[in-house]
Amino acid sequence: MDIERVGIVGAGQMGNGIAHVFALAGYDVLMTDISQDSLDAGRALISKNLDRQVAREKISQAAKDAAMARINSTLTLTDLGQTDLIIEAATERETVKQAIFEELVPHLKPNTILTSNTSSISITRLASRTDRPEKFMGFHFMNPVPIMQLVELIRGIATDKDTFDTLHAVVEKLGKTSATAEDFPAFIVNRILMPMINEAIYTLYEGVGNVRSIDTSLKLGANHPMGPLELADFIGLDTCLAIMNVLHDGLADTKYRPCPLLTKYVEAGWLGRKTNRGFYDYSGETPVPTR
Ligand code: NAD
Repeated sequence: MDIERVGIVGAGQMGNGIAHVFALAGYDVLMTDISQDSLDAGRALISKNLDRQVAREKISQAAKDAAMARINSTLTLTDLGQTDLIIEAATERETVKQAIFEELVPHLKPNTILTSNTSSISITRLASRTDRPEKFMGFHFMNPVPIMQLVELIRGIATDKDTFDTLHAVVEKLGKTSATAEDFPAFIVNRILMPMINEAIYTLYEGVGNVRSIDTSLKLGANHPMGPLELADFIGLDTCLAIMNVLHDGLADTKYRPCPLLTKYVEAGWLGRKTNRGFYDYSGETPVPTR
């Protein structure tokens, strides 16, 4: 199936990055959010990130201008009904995602493919609540989307071959690489990454090391480009907690229990970079460890 118009639900960290790469690859993008501020901030960030690519001579000014011209936004979710592919990138809460698909479905063209960028929620379950489980897939981009090469393709139990092949081709057109995962909690990347981040938070909680020593250990001792606590702040501590809860509930194994310190930070509203405080304080010029 030919994809030309793409609808993106949620203009946060992931939604605006996804809009960026699709517009640059020549797709028409229609972005929606519940907040006009998020739509405006998303658009401003896309422009800034494209400027950075122009400055580094990765793309031309004309390519940037053309990409920006391909991105439109709306506060009305159902305006996305006429697109060929929907990518849901709203908050990582199943009730939020379900409500979005429920409202969208009656307005869709018969062939529109539905996808979710969820980090962990069951694709099969999200799909089963729509009128087209065979045209539903997990389409998991990594953060920051313009930079990260991987896209996980997650087939629900009912996903048909045509839908899979279409998304596989879209990933190639974006110039990215796909890896295919089966629909089990948190798929591949987060099944492996999140328990490591959660363990780093336990290491902090139990006083084995402080924030700096934990991050330095993994950066210099395991050659990770970012420390696990720095990475948790970057991903968002609410998203990290949501993923650990999905692993814990879905696999029913205590090895996935979220660290109480992670829960406490989320309860405090310390969600990482997006709220200026998490394991680091981001209010000054350089991040300062908070423990
Ligand atoms: P975010 O908090 O930055 O953005 C979420 C956006 O969704 C917000 O702008 C919010 O206003 C909007 N939203 C909430 N309810 C909505 C609704 N009903 N309709 C439209 N918009 C709505 O979150 P994010 O980090 O961009 O995460 C979005 C999704 O991407 C989640 O499913 C998350 O698991 C997934 N994801 C996140 C990362 C990451 O590193 N942050 C990586 C891969 C996938």
